[in-house]
Order: sequence, then structure tokens, then C-alpha cells
Amino acid sequence: MGEKEGFIKYKRELPQTRPVEERVGDYQEIYQPLDEKKLNQQAARCMDCGIPFCHQGCPLGNVIPDFNEAVYQERWDEAFDILKSTNNFPEFTGRICPAPCESSCVLGINKDPVTIELIEKSIAEKAYELGLAKPNPPAKRTSKHVAVIGSGPAGLAAADQLNKAGHEVTVFEKNAKVGGLLRYGIPDFKMEKWVIDRRISLMREEGITFTTNTEVGFNIKAENILQNFDAVVLSTGAEEPRVLKIPGHELEGVHFAMDFLGNQNRVVGGERGNNPISAKDKHVLVIGGGDTGSDCIGTSRRHGAASVTQLELLPKPPQKRTESNPWPEWPMTLRTSSSHEEGAERVWSVLTKRFLEGEKGKVSGLEVVEIEWKEKGDGSFGFEEVEGTEKVIPCDLAFIAIGYSGPKKDGLLESFGVEFLDNGLPYSKDYQSSEEKVFLAGDMRKGQSLVVWAISEGREAAYHVDKFLQGKSSLPQKDHSYYEFGS
Ligand SMILES: Cc1cc2nc3c(=O)[nH]c(=O)nc-3n(C[C@H](O)[C@H](O)[C@H](O)COP(=O)(O)OP(=O)(O)OC[C@H]3O[C@@H](n4cnc5c(N)ncnc54)[C@H](O)[C@@H]3O)c2cc1C
Ligand code: SF4
Repeated sequence: MGEKEGFIKYKRELPQTRPVEERVGDYQEIYQPLDEKKLNQQAARCMDCGIPFCHQGCPLGNVIPDFNEAVYQERWDEAFDILKSTNNFPEFTGRICPAPCESSCVLGINKDPVTIELIEKSIAEKAYELGLAKPNPPAKRTSKHVAVIGSGPAGLAAADQLNKAGHEVTVFEKNAKVGGLLRYGIPDFKMEKWVIDRRISLMREEGITFTTNTEVGFNIKAENILQNFDAVVLSTGAEEPRVLKIPGHELEGVHFAMDFLGNQNRVVGGERGNNPISAKDKHVLVIGGGDTGSDCIGTSRRHGAASVTQLELLPKPPQKRTESNPWPEWPMTLRTSSSHEEGAERVWSVLTKRFLEGEKGKVSGLEVVEIEWKEKGDGSFGFEEVEGTEKVIPCDLAFIAIGYSGPKKDGLLESFGVEFLDNGLPYSKDYQSSEEKVFLAGDMRKGQSLVVWAISEGREAAYHVDKFLQGKSSLPQKDHSYYEFGS
């Protein structure tokens, strides 16, 4: 443990964000660097509490107190070795993870938790700066070939692990660039894309082949992949958006959030000239209160929207934990993202009834009604409309950001022989699908989730693929008995 009373002496401190007026004028990351002395103090706040609940809070099982100590001692090589032993891409999670580890930090019982995510990002960036993050190809190659379909965080983690095990790995990606939703979903103001490019060039040097602009099932048939590879990892994401089936959803000006966000990332990345959906001078409605909705707010602000309103079906969460949501559970409290700080009206407990048609088939507003959430008597909750609260919110652009129902139903998975469960997700046992050679990972297996979970899925799937190919595996596997304690 670094400093015995560090958690009493130093307050939690995060880097400053760039001023709102400045940052809405560009798409660069919003955080400014934190100086090393302050970072050292933040690492000193770790109590090394003995039972590190943060381990089970992190889906990767990151060994947090140990890397905090190494950062405090300024032993960056050791800190990076500890971090990379469980996390292939700390430069991603250090920027965009919602940090469930921090919610279960023991310090968080009655003080502000340790800034684990910031420390993680700092270790990753320092590792690149000091040349510690360098290509490390496997010493020996097996003669096995593995195809990874989909280059989001799940596919990338699986590819990285399988390459470490010595297999020849080819990643197939339908888009022009690698990264999945890291590249085409998450806006640059949360994570700039050179961060992905830097990692991919290391992975290429380590021997992984990336084949882009290749949609498996269309440009290459599943039979070809199955014939030419000893094992396949399908990590194609959960790309089927949930549809808001209310009257008027087909009007001009009503879009899926990803059509807006994906195009914007392509504009910022130089892949296209302009975004066909412009929020400039528009009154924007964002339907859905999650990450995607929040990203629509930040992007609309940068377009120069006249106003942005975000609607959420659920009631406004409390500022602090309630008795029924104690530490170390994930706190069901009000979250204010950097995009909310940039300006949006937030409306809770409303049900969308119908879009209204204005001139020439364009959307002009949304009719909503307030709802009340009530206990039904059997412990479950349901909502009732509040009579007389119907109103129209005028808008000329609306984004549907209510999530994804699962993998696309375009026949790709069936062509690999994958069977489905009743919930629309594919069947798997130990990450292996109903087809012996075909393994599954990430949002397509688990349903829409988080980057940290996708990395975990890719790592676990790689372990099982390696075991399938070689009879045993020396790749690390998460200690489930330990993790399941808190899940
Ligand atoms: C707008 C938005 C913001 C988000 N923000 C956050 C955040 O801040 N923090 C966080 O932790 N999580 C966030 N998430 C969730 C996170 O991005 C996902 O959980 C994660 O990317 C899932 O990883 P994946 O590898 O399973 O799938 P994806 O990232 O979806 O990658 C799947 C890849 O497969 C490719 N593919 C699909 N079909 C084929 C095919 N037939 N052939 C070849 N390639 C194919 C796709 O093009 C894609 O590149 C966000 C999601 C969205 C939509
Ligand atoms: S990956 Fe996420 S949950 Fe795990 S230690 Fe990093 S910030 Fe915390």
C-alpha cells in the first residue's frame, strides 16, 4: 500500500474537461491531461483494503490495487504488466468504460471512490510513451488458422489472445476500417480514433491479418470460411435496432440514432464529406436515456442544434443510492454525461404516443403522455398513463435510441449452422455454438452491453477456441467462482 492515509489526505480528482463553448466547436476528446503528481496522489488513495471488491466490479477482473500501488511507486513497467495481464485494450476502457469497478470500490462506502478508470488510462498512455506497449509476436506458431468475423472490441480481444497462443488469425470486417462500435458508434469526443489505429498497427506487427470491406455471408460465403479455417469466432455485434412502433415513425426526420452517429464518425474520420442527417438549427428530440442517446445530444450540439430534448420512459433516478440499492451494487442514480453538460432538457416518465406530420411528410412533433410507475402487488413494476397529461413536444428531427434487440436476422448466423434461443440470441455453451467449429463472443452472444464486457467475451471465447484446437489452453481464463460472487 502506497500512502497509509492517502485516502484521508487527498480528495478524488479527475482531469478538467475543456470548456463547453470550446469543445462543442470540434470533435476532439474533452478531457485535459492530469499532471503526474496529482495522478500519483490519486493512486495513493487506494486503501489496499484486503478484500478488493473492485476486482469483482470489473468484468475483466482487473487487478486494481496492485496496479494502483505500482503507479504510486512510479513503476510503470510493472503497472502495465499487471494491467495487460487481464485487459487487452486499457487505452479503450480507460476512456469509455462506465467503470463499474469504481461503484464497488471499498472507499466508496462513505467517501468518493478511487479514480480507477483514470489510472488505467494513464498506465496505458504512459506505456505507449515509454515504448512499453510494443509488438510482441508469439515465439512459436501452431499450424492452426482461425477466422474472426467482426472487428469490434470482442473480435479484437479474441484475435489478440488467439494470436498470442500462436494461431494464424485473420479478422474479417465489413466496414472500411476496423473497430466496430468503437469506430462507428462511440463519438470522437469520447474516444478519438487514432487510439484504435495505434493498437491495430501493433496487432498487425504481431502477425494478425485484417481484411476489411469484406462482409462475410455476402463477399465470402460461410462455407468458404468453414473450409479454410480450423475454427471461427463470430463477433458481429447486436446490430438489429429496436423499432419504436408508434404512428408516424416512418416520417421524414425520424431516424435511428446509429444512422446519425455512424455517419458523423465517418465524416470526422474522412470517409465521407458530410452527414446526410444534419441537426443544424433543428429542434432535436432524442428518445432513449442511455449512452447512445447521450451521444446523439453531444453530436447534435456540435452540429449547432437549436434545442435538444431527451425523453426517458423511466422515472428520474435519485441523486444518491437508496437503501434498496446498497454498495457494492451498481448504483441506480442520476448520471450526467459530458454531453448533458453541453445542454439538453431531460424529461423522465413519459410515453411516446405518435409522431405528428408537418409539411411535405416531415415530422413536426411528438405526442407524449406522462406515466406513473407502480408496484403491481407481485413485486414487479408497471406503468400507467396519467390522465390529462398528454402534450406535444415540437421537433423537426428525432433520434430513436432505445437499444438493440440482438444480432441481425440476415441469415449469416444460420449459414454457419448457429441455432437460436427463444430470446433471439444464439445458443452457446462455453462460447461454442451449436456448430462445433464456430464460437461466439460479444454483443451478438450476450446482447447489447459494454466495451469492457465485449473484451471479456473475446478473451473467454479465445480460451475455449484454443482448448478446442489444442486439447488444452495456457491462455488465461477468468476466475468465475470469484466473479459470480458479485454478478
Ligand atoms: C452509440 C453507442 C455508444 C456506446 N458507448 C459506449 C460507451 O461509452 N462505453 C461502453 O462501454 N460501451 C458503449 N457502447 C456499447 C459498445 O460499443 C458495445 O457493447 C461493443 O462495441 C460491442 O462489441 P462487439 O465487438 O461485440 O460488437 P461491435 O462493436 O458491434 O462490432 C461488431 C463488428 O462486426 C462487424 N460485422 C457485422 N457483420 C459482419 C459480417 N457479416 N462480416 C464482417 N463483419 C461484420 C461490424 O461491422 C462491426 O465492426 C456504445 C454503443 C453505441 C451504439
Ligand atoms: S475496465 Fe472498466 S471496470 Fe475494469 S478496471 Fe477499467 S474502468 Fe474499471
